[in-house]
Amino acid sequence: MALSEFELIKKYFSDKQITSSYVTLGIGDDGAILNCPPAHELIVSTDILNEGVHFYPQSSAHYVGFKSLAVNLSDLAAMGATPNWFTLNLSLPEVDENWLQEFSRGLHECAQIYDVHLVGGDTTRGALSIGIQVGGYVPSGQAILRSGAQPGDRVFISGALGNAAYINKQLLDNTINYDTSLEKYLIPTPQIPLGISLRGIANSAIDISDGLLADISHVTYTSHCGAKIFADKIPFAEYLKDHETSTVNSLQLACTGGEDYVICFTVAEHKLPDLKGNAFYKSLHEIGVITGQDGVMLLDENNNEINFQSIGYDHFKAH
Ligand code: ADP
Ligand code: MG
Repeated sequence: MALSEFELIKKYFSDKQITSSYVTLGIGDDGAILNCPPAHELIVSTDILNEGVHFYPQSSAHYVGFKSLAVNLSDLAAMGATPNWFTLNLSLPEVDENWLQEFSRGLHECAQIYDVHLVGGDTTRGALSIGIQVGGYVPSGQAILRSGAQPGDRVFISGALGNAAYINKQLLDNTINYDTSLEKYLIPTPQIPLGISLRGIANSAIDISDGLLADISHVTYTSHCGAKIFADKIPFAEYLKDHETSTVNSLQLACTGGEDYVICFTVAEHKLPDLKGNAFYKSLHEIGVITGQDGVMLLDENNNEINFQSIGYDHFKAH
């Protein structure tokens, strides 16, 4: 017999012991009771994942569970926050226990790695959709914002780009079929330790979810400045490098494709020595500079501007 709503919550989502001293009460009441360490601020962020948009009907439930939490944690990473708790709003077309088992395993695996606790949520019947809200904290005044970039700042990214864009394009073109072995190239790794280590060093940060150029333009727009990005400095991710032979196509996918979930951040020149001492320095790529003029320019090695038709993903734009 199919599980009831309450049995489902109990079996898959509420049996974990909460060990955080900042979670006074988790799942089971009308609301959770949460705290934050003294002299810290609470950072809250939320993301929805819908079938057919953020994952495929053929995606493994384990991947969907892990990814749902990971993309939310990526936002906390970009703010320099230490994650602490999350809520899960789940809309399910039916009770499929095999799916739930694997979804819950992926979700809890991610939660364990980043030490975050599931403190509540809601469960309804409907099209498959997962809404997660995450909470974390930073010492007061130390959150890294999109609005802090200054002309002269160097622009860095924390990893290579373009795997998800390339795979999604191949799937859309029917050049390949979905295979769960692709998921290792698609699964996000939230850069939480890096984000924490950039407190006091980075002037601004954002996670790359919509596409490098689109996301940098969010930073330059809110910071009232511009940026020059050097095309030859952009690192291509492994799967893209191995499969795409055209450098122009690779560049376009790496610059305008989404779902890379690396952090893009800016650092003032006088803070560069601090950044060089950062444990993650070797994995970083300096790709550009913040300018005083509006707009984001992608430049080739001869300083000529490269333009693409679209700079990134927009849910409400025709593609
Ligand atoms: P209410 O009727 O007040 O909305 P619910 O019956 O929806 O309460 O939920 C009961 C408890 O189970 C609450 O503490 C809620 O936070 C939790 N809960 C419901 N759905 C989920 C879920 N998908 N994951 C985690 N906790 C959940
Ligand atoms: Mg409810």
